[in-house]
Formats: sequence, structure tokens, C-alpha cells
Amino acid sequence: MSDCLFCKMVSGQIKPNVVLETGDVLAFRDINPQAPTHVLVVPKRHIATINDIAAADAELVGKLYLAAAEVARKEGLAERGYRTVMNCNAEAGQTVFHLHLHVVGGRPMGWPPG
Ligand code: 5GP
Ligand code: ZN
Repeated sequence: MSDCLFCKMVSGQIKPNVVLETGDVLAFRDINPQAPTHVLVVPKRHIATINDIAAADAELVGKLYLAAAEVARKEGLAERGYRTVMNCNAEAGQTVFHLHLHVVGGRPMGWPPG
């Protein structure tokens, strides 16, 4: 998707602050962090929202979580705890329509989310 911000990061047209890269997944720091660690984990292949995940994407989505856990380990958050969030569409606050898993941690977090 030529007009997608996160596709541009995957292609290298825009260079994010990369934390982890695998064959299928890129993880980079959020430009507007909501906690000491705020990393976005995205599939390299464009999928717009959770609603657009196909059965054939199940392994890829699993890889997002494997990458999230690896990011948490690298950031020293695995044992103390962290949150993963994937927003879907307007009421959840999705603003970038390329699937992404937020990995947020480094401070205590409340529940329920706002
Ligand atoms: P959403 O609101 O769609 O769940 O999350 C989108 C996230 O992308 C937001 O947390 C926002 O700060 C982040 N973001 C938006 N533009 C950029 C950018 O240009 N670079 C980076 N690294 N993050 C961005
Ligand atoms: Zn995209």
C-alpha cells in the first residue's frame, strides 16, 4: 500500500526507530510514547484492521505476539509486566490502518482502559 505510513516503514521509505525485525514482522518505537516503553509491532504485509485478518493470516498474527514477547524481554519488561493492545476502528481509537500491536510498559497501568 503506497499511501500507508507503516508500509513505508517496512519498505524503508520512512526510517523508524527499529527494536526488532524478523522475516514477517517489524517492531519500532511509537513516535508519541504513552509509557517508558511503547513499541508498535506490525506485520510486514499490509492488513488494515483486525476485521481484515483472514484464516490464512493466523500464523502471522501469532508471530506478532511472539515478537511482542521478545520486545518485552529485550526491554526488561517480561517479568514485571506489560500490556499489548490492538485497536480496531474508530471507537477503539485506531488511527493508522495497518495492523499493529502496541507493546506498552515500564509503569503501572490501570484497568479498565479509557
Ligand atoms: P492506533 O491509534 O492506530 O492504535 O496507533 C497508532 C500509533 O501510531 C499511535 O500510537 C501513534 O503515536 C503512532 N504513530 C503515528 N504516526 C507515527 C510515526 O510517524 N512514527 C511512529 N513511530 N509512530 C507513529
Ligand atoms: Zn500498510
